[in-house]
Amino acid sequence: MAMPRAKTELRTLGNTGLKVSAVGFGASPLGSVFGPVGEDDAVATVREAFRLGINFFDTSPYYGGTLSEKMLGKGLKALQVPRSGYIVATKCGRYKEGFDFSAERVTKSIDESLERLQLDYVDILHCHDIEFGSLDQIVSETIPALRKLKQEGKIRFIGITGLPLHIFTYVLDRVAPGTIDVILSYCHYGVNDSTLLELLPYLKSKGVGVISASPLSMGLLTEQGPPEWHPASPELKSACKAAVAHCKSKGKKITNLALQYSLANKEISSVLVGMSSISQVEENVEAFTELERLGIDQETLSEVEAILKPVKNLTWPSGINQN
Ligand code: NAD
Repeated sequence: MAMPRAKTELRTLGNTGLKVSAVGFGASPLGSVFGPVGEDDAVATVREAFRLGINFFDTSPYYGGTLSEKMLGKGLKALQVPRSGYIVATKCGRYKEGFDFSAERVTKSIDESLERLQLDYVDILHCHDIEFGSLDQIVSETIPALRKLKQEGKIRFIGITGLPLHIFTYVLDRVAPGTIDVILSYCHYGVNDSTLLELLPYLKSKGVGVISASPLSMGLLTEQGPPEWHPASPELKSACKAAVAHCKSKGKKITNLALQYSLANKEISSVLVGMSSISQVEENVEAFTELERLGIDQETLSEVEAILKPVKNLTWPSGINQN
C-alpha cells in the first residue's frame, strides 16, 4: 500500500479512552441520500479515508433505509485490518419507517445493524434524533436498554444525538454520571451557526465526549448546494449560496474554509463530514493539514462571516414539542 499523502490527527473522546480522528467519516452519503453512490465508489472512499488516517466512521440504520450501514460494512471489511484499528458508531430509534425508542426495538436494532455492518460490536451506539421521541422515555427506558447491550459487549459506549441543544442538558441532567459517554450535535458548529460553543463547558463538566457533525451544514456550504430535502429556510439557503459564490469568485473552496472552522476547536473531538468520493476525502484531509500548517484564511473567513451575519445561528425546527 502506498504511503499516505496527508494525515488527520487523533483526539481523545471524552472519558471513553477512544482516540478518534479529528476528521470523522460521515457515512450518510453512502446511503445515497445526497445523490446516488455505487458500491465500488463507497468501498474505495472508505479505503482512502482509512489510508489518510481517518479511523472514525459514523452511520445509522436510517441513512438510505439501511443502505449506508451495508455500504460501510463492505468498505470496512475490504480494509482487511484488525477490528481495533477503526471506530464505528451507529444509531438506534430512527428508521425509514419512523421513530421507535422502545427497549424492545433498540435491542433488536443493534443485532440488525451488526449484521449489516458485518461486525461483532460497535464502539458507539447513539439514540438517533431524540427530540422526535419522549425524552423521559430515553432516560427511563432507552438508555437502560443500551446499558444492557454494553454489558453484553455489543456496544462499547452510549451516545445521544439531535438538533436542538436543550435535549442534551435535559437528558444528561437526569442520568447518573458516566451513563452517557458522548453526544453528537449537528449543524451547530460551523461558520453559519456556532451555538454548540455555549454548551461545551457543561459537556466538559459532565465528562461527555463531543462529536460535531455537518460542518458544511448538510450541503448548504458546498458548490453543488443542499439536497432537495434540506430543512433550512429560503433566507438561510440564499445567504449560504451567496457565501459559496463569494469564495468561488476568489478562487477559494468554501468547503475547506467551513471544515477548517469546525476543526479549529480542539474541544470537539471529531468533526463528521459526509463523504462519498476519493477526491472529497483527499480534499477534506488536506483541509486539516493546511489548517495545521498555515492556520485559517482569516481574510476570507471575515468576508464569509459578514455575508452570513444576517442569518448567523439561524436554525430550523426539529422534533416534537415537549418541555
Ligand atoms: P455535511 O455538512 O458533512 O455535508 C455533506 C455534503 O457535503 C455531501 O453532499 C458531501 O458530498 C458534500 N461534501 C463533503 N466534502 C466535500 C468536499 N470536499 N467538496 C464538496 N462537497 C463535499 O453533512 P452530513 O453528511 O449530513 O453530516 C456529516 C455526517 O454526520 C453524516 O454523514 C452523519 O454520519 C452525521 N450526522 C448525524 C446526524 C444525527 O445523528 N442526527 C445529523 C447529521 C449528520
